[in-house]
Amino acid sequence: MKFAENSNQSAEYLRQAIPLMVKYNIPPNPLNYALWYTYVSNKLPSLNTQMDQTLETYGTCPTLLGEQMFREHVISDEVAESEQAQNQLIALTQNLQEHAHTAAEHTSSFGVVLEDSLAELSEPVNNGAELESIITRLAENTASISQTTNEFQEKIAAAQAEIASLKEELQRTRQDARVDALTGLFNRRVFDAELEQIAGSKSDKVTTLVMIDIDHFKQFNDNYGHLMGDKVLQYFGKVLKETCKEPALPVRYGGEEFAVLMIGQSAKEAAELAEGLRSKIQAIRIKQKKSGKVISSITASFGISQRTENESAEQTIERADKALYRAKENGRNRVEIAD
Ligand code: GH3
Ligand code: MG
Ligand code: MG
Repeated sequence: MKFAENSNQSAEYLRQAIPLMVKYNIPPNPLNYALWYTYVSNKLPSLNTQMDQTLETYGTCPTLLGEQMFREHVISDEVAESEQAQNQLIALTQNLQEHAHTAAEHTSSFGVVLEDSLAELSEPVNNGAELESIITRLAENTASISQTTNEFQEKIAAAQAEIASLKEELQRTRQDARVDALTGLFNRRVFDAELEQIAGSKSDKVTTLVMIDIDHFKQFNDNYGHLMGDKVLQYFGKVLKETCKEPALPVRYGGEEFAVLMIGQSAKEAAELAEGLRSKIQAIRIKQKKSGKVISSITASFGISQRTENESAEQTIERADKALYRAKENGRNRVEIAD
């Protein structure tokens, strides 16, 4: 693929790419600039088709898919065959980000850097020495253009500031729609979207779900009042947050139901985490202010399913739900793993 725009044309492409990146909440890094620059240039119709489909599905371009598209479409076929070369090239664009940042005040045109690096990336690369020389040339390129300044660079800087503030604003509004107010955990919407994304991706990472339901919570509310019930839910959220470290994602699934999405963890590993949670919950003691009475009857049941190949998000959830039902049937306050 050839990138040989004059600087007016490349500036124009970038000018079009930036608002799109803001609109779709795309992190402003060189890989994404390159991807979206190519998108607005309309040079690779197959990339545009895939990007349009991705945007329709996710409302954004998830990082993983963006990187995949970059590998598939922007980098030449020869390079695409070598996993190692690809990884180095991806790293190269990340390096460029650092160069671009330090050079930002003096760079005459970020578009020119982009042009050069895209051209380099689209050349076949056969060995480490060639890669090395591309890296060197890129670094020299970046250094040489950092000698001068012009209006376009200011525009880019302004656009980047705008991207940052828009992103913050977007994040704030999205936060509200994604976070449960009582517990501060992410909500079901986030959980569903994450699981959907995993089920739809080609990633072969093991994924496991833990569905959690507080036992006899209706009775608890009846005995101690709804406010006390809320307190338990809040405390429950705190325990989940403390216990489930990344990449485990704990959410309030709804009402007195919680879930943990565990990427890269097997059912056995999830069962260990669930056991830990189960005993921590069992140990919860809450003092009722009015009566001074200590409440110690809080327990929860757990259902676990490990996603099988080609299984849809709903199917994995359904199996975890069935296991949870079995935990209830078998006496509650226990962990069951789906078949
Ligand atoms: P099981 O062991 O079978 O799960 O019994 P359960 O009583 O927990 O189940 P059920 O589905 O009958 O009742 C769920 C209860 O959870 C009823 C509802 O009042 C309570 N609940 C749901 N959301 C909240 C909330 O936000 N705050 C409080 N305090 N209670 C809630
Ligand atoms: Mg329930
Ligand atoms: Mg319940």
